[in-house]
Amino acid sequence: MSDQTAQGQPVPFKAETKQLLNILIHSLYTEREIFLRELISNASDALSRLDFAMLTDRNVLDPDRPLEIRIRTDEDQGLLIVADTGIGMTKEELAENLGTIAHSGAKAFVEAVEDANQNLTDIIGQFGVGFYSAFMVADWIRVVSRSYHPEAQAAAWYAIGEDTYTLEDAEKETRGTEVRIKLKEDAREFLDSARLRQVLKRHSDFIQYPIYLNDEAEPVNRQTALWRQSPREVSEEAYHEFYKQLTLDFTDPLVYSHLSVDAPAQLYSVLFIPQDPQNLVFSPRKEPGLKLYARKVLIREFDTDLLPVYLNFVQGVVDSEDLPLNLSRESVQSSQVMALLKKLVTGKALEMLTSLGRDDPEKYARFWAVYGDRLKEGVAIEQDDPEKLFPLLRFHTDQDLTGWVSLEDYLEKVGGDQKEIYYFLGEDPSAVRYSPHMDAFRKAGIPVLVLADAVDPFMLLRLKEYEGHPLVNVADADLPEPEKGEKEPELPAVDAESLASLVERVKAVLGERVSDVRTTDRLSDSPARLVDAEGAPEQSVQRVYQMMDKSFEIPKKVLELNPRHPIIAGLAELPAEDPRFTLIAEQVYEDALLVEGLHPDPVSMVGRIQDLIASLLDQEKKS
Ligand code: ADP
Repeated sequence: MSDQTAQGQPVPFKAETKQLLNILIHSLYTEREIFLRELISNASDALSRLDFAMLTDRNVLDPDRPLEIRIRTDEDQGLLIVADTGIGMTKEELAENLGTIAHSGAKAFVEAVEDANQNLTDIIGQFGVGFYSAFMVADWIRVVSRSYHPEAQAAAWYAIGEDTYTLEDAEKETRGTEVRIKLKEDAREFLDSARLRQVLKRHSDFIQYPIYLNDEAEPVNRQTALWRQSPREVSEEAYHEFYKQLTLDFTDPLVYSHLSVDAPAQLYSVLFIPQDPQNLVFSPRKEPGLKLYARKVLIREFDTDLLPVYLNFVQGVVDSEDLPLNLSRESVQSSQVMALLKKLVTGKALEMLTSLGRDDPEKYARFWAVYGDRLKEGVAIEQDDPEKLFPLLRFHTDQDLTGWVSLEDYLEKVGGDQKEIYYFLGEDPSAVRYSPHMDAFRKAGIPVLVLADAVDPFMLLRLKEYEGHPLVNVADADLPEPEKGEKEPELPAVDAESLASLVERVKAVLGERVSDVRTTDRLSDSPARLVDAEGAPEQSVQRVYQMMDKSFEIPKKVLELNPRHPIIAGLAELPAEDPRFTLIAEQVYEDALLVEGLHPDPVSMVGRIQDLIASLLDQEKKS
């Protein structure tokens, strides 16, 4: 350790850092090369923070020194050195940043190890554990840094294992940070230029500052911000690679889009939709937000002002020449340019989804399965013309509970004569099979959209009409009478008088539980159904109230009886004194509650059902 001078007092690492280092030092993780990605990423952050500081303050150390990253090797000593001319660290900052676990990925990793109590070393790379990952290849690490503040002193941090580190004053003339790694015997491959070049190309090609290897004059990385290239010149592979470097997602994005415009604002942007947001749980970009650059300088790591909240699953980069360089948070937020950029970026994101829906329905179905709820939420909350989201919506129908149709598909399917778009609203899609409101639709073969997500009632508050076609709840629908003549089911011989008496008797049994009882000719297969009383709010609105206010009570419903159904016909003939009358009337009512998703306590029906079965068996015995 020739370069090591007298060390300061050893300082113990925090417990969680120790634990992380222990795992890393002893890890058999095969893709150790990712440590370089992490160090380069830190160096690049340090450079871009300096860039940012210099926008408003030229009073920095070495203001004219180029912003760059340099990697050096020393074969004889087995040293790998990663140096940057970035913002640097003071002694205090070294202690603060490299004594604890700052990196969110590292934190998540340690928590996952503790939690699962298992060996997660195989997936270290997916967590992106930051600076400490260098301990996978190091016998010791020494960091020498000098902060950009002109009066700051250089300092050094040194650690040889998982227990302690030391801090001391150091000599360094120039601004920035140098990470000096004594490579383990089995990690000497990282002294080889060809190997280093390969790793840098693979993981750090899009870093926007030049990365030089030893004394080479040409940088290793392509460096051009991908988003500033012409879309025609960028291959799909390059977009995918860029996405992976940005997010550390290990799968390709589901879809991407590249925007490059000069008017009405000057703007470059590349947007991505992850295949599965779960992949980003441990990513440095698990927080929502786009990377925002103004004139190539990173001004916000996670900007959430450029897309509406319901699109905050979109990942990517936005870069504009038009953003003001006076960069306080408030001024950026309130600036007119931001409003304009938001419009452009949002428009681009929606256009990307529209083309996906049109050109690749299979992929769009995958998108919809993961993010559909977000777009429905968008319909509910979008201030600025929610109609633009309507064409992106997809639905199951009662005729196909697994496939998806758009509103356009639905209209095409039903043909020009049908003006309405019918929907069924329930808590569970399979409830559509048993709903009495569906009787007439099933019979007529009219498809019905199935709305069974929690967000659907909210969506319906804004989705009342599509291209002049009203959306109508099947429970409220007034279907034209089916063509007479053909196969009219035979009406049981229940005369008007017994029907009237039946209605009165059922009313007497149900009392306050319903607002009214009446007969209907709208049902065929179902004995009864519940409908809203005149003047009650729509079902979707009731559901919204219910979700917003737990104490909201669904208004009492009207029970409609189907005199053509054998149960109702039979009930009408049951003598008043027969004890089964009450049991059956109550069961019919509670069955209707159940299919409506409104039964407060379905298990309570068991006793009554058993009584009915017993009486049935009793009857059999007697006859
Ligand atoms: P992260 O980069 O995610 O914050 P790290 O553990 O990799 O986590 O680094 C911890 C902190 O150390 C960084 O946030 C940064 O403040 C500081 N740091 C690391 N490398 C450098 C560097 N090359 N120049 C300046 N600061 C650095």
